[in-house]
Amino acid sequence: MAKKQKAEVIPKSCVACGSCLKVCPKKAISIWKGSYAIVEKEKCVGCRRCERECPVNGIEMRETHEKVV
Ligand code: SF4
Ligand code: SF4
Repeated sequence: MAKKQKAEVIPKSCVACGSCLKVCPKKAISIWKGSYAIVEKEKCVGCRRCERECPVNGIEMRETHEKVV
């Protein structure tokens, strides 16, 4: 069974540059207290744009247990 992927920020890698925010089509990412990015999992559609955009490889795609619809 296929599983959905969702973006997850690695806080210790993130430099809060804001690049991922600009490319996310779902506006699922915000910067938490100016220190690192966080992804709202409910909004993320797993398009991987943020992962490609991040200059420090601070975003990983993680499988979720939700079914792909
Ligand atoms: S994978 Fe796509 S939808 Fe999810 S947070 Fe990254 S840019 Fe946004
Ligand atoms: S692009 Fe990478 S370093 Fe920049 S805010 Fe997003 S996760 Fe952090």
